[in-house]
Amino acid sequence: MRSPILDYLDDVLERTDDFDAGAVADYIPELAAADPNRVAVALCTVNGTVYASGDVGHEFSIQSMSKPFAYALAVEDLGLQTVLSHIGVEPSGEAFNELSLDPESGKPRNPMINAGAIATHALLTGDGDTATERMIDLFSRLTERSIDIDEAVANSEMETGARNMGLAYLLHSSGAMATDPRVAVEGYIRQCAASVTVHDLALMAATLANAGVQPNTGERIFCRQTTKHVLSVMASCGMYDAAGDWLSAVGIPAKSGVAGGIIGILPGQVGVAVFSPPLDAHGNSARGVEMMHRLSDDLGLHLMDAGRPARSSLRETRVADVEGEPATIYVLQGDMVLSSIESLTREIVENPPKTELVIFDMSRVDEVLPVARRTASEMATKLLDEGYCIVLVDPENTVTDFQDSQGRNVQWWSSERLEQGIGA
Ligand code: GLN
Repeated sequence: MRSPILDYLDDVLERTDDFDAGAVADYIPELAAADPNRVAVALCTVNGTVYASGDVGHEFSIQSMSKPFAYALAVEDLGLQTVLSHIGVEPSGEAFNELSLDPESGKPRNPMINAGAIATHALLTGDGDTATERMIDLFSRLTERSIDIDEAVANSEMETGARNMGLAYLLHSSGAMATDPRVAVEGYIRQCAASVTVHDLALMAATLANAGVQPNTGERIFCRQTTKHVLSVMASCGMYDAAGDWLSAVGIPAKSGVAGGIIGILPGQVGVAVFSPPLDAHGNSARGVEMMHRLSDDLGLHLMDAGRPARSSLRETRVADVEGEPATIYVLQGDMVLSSIESLTREIVENPPKTELVIFDMSRVDEVLPVARRTASEMATKLLDEGYCIVLVDPENTVTDFQDSQGRNVQWWSSERLEQGIGA
């Protein structure tokens, strides 16, 4: 049986079939030769299954969609503060190949435009490996296959790369980039010439959606903080001077490339990728933008579209004898985030437990966000102050770091002990 998700992706291609706006990039001669009729779409959820339709095996150069990944690697290498001291995070409102520098600091405005991406590439050095080798290795780990550079595209762009070379010389001469401009631009151009399919891009996007963990191999490629930062910069700067329109209409962090690809990420859910070579006036794939609009509307991807509010963390409150003593048992569930923990604290504040022994059964809790951890431990401290004894049943160790500052009566029980205690 064919998956309805594949049928849906076919439908996206069909519904945009008569869309023929835009023109293929011609400032890189090799790209001018691209077949404008090639088209593909793919999506991959954080579970790692890729669904793709159209010219799914067709390879094209990643171009600027490499920028967020190079930036993530630089942040992992050097730490965010160091990278921010070289490259800003403000949308430039200008075309991707402008020399958009902050007038005060002289830093490139952001890492998603060429000036910032060349400076980012220049920050990447490895143990003997060139920055480009590291990028190719990164792409291969993200896509679960061996990624190659399209040498014809790389050479073609080197021959006509005067503008990027000019940007790099200006960055170098103003002190914004220490690396030899020719080395930085050649490496950056090779990074952009990595050859990928929509299938590859969906996996790359899904890794960002999955907080930096490649969904199939389980490898943590970027830490959570880095991923969050990179997605924020993609949201505000990823679509160049169309970034504001994009965020309001499509509503997800995204990045386009001049070969015709666009990736988009809904954090925690899905990565999507589209491909169609003709570009609009902003240098974004024209049909790709159209397909992304449809994906966003049909699949409910817009970030600002509030989803179902989180369930209350409190599944039920029970009063029972446990190990022969009366106890109040709060059975918690799901992800503990601000809105879900608020209902738990409200219940405790409005109906304080009537037994001295208070048990928090966390065996059904999935994840505890820092805000919930803080609120819960403050709540526990208050209960201890009131003279209650607290038991935590936390088999997944979701709150391992809870400690009462005065070392008071908090006990950790296993789920079995609670079950047997109630039965006793
Ligand atoms: N390699 C291309 C360039 O630097 C990347 C630009 C893009 O994809 N927008 O011009």
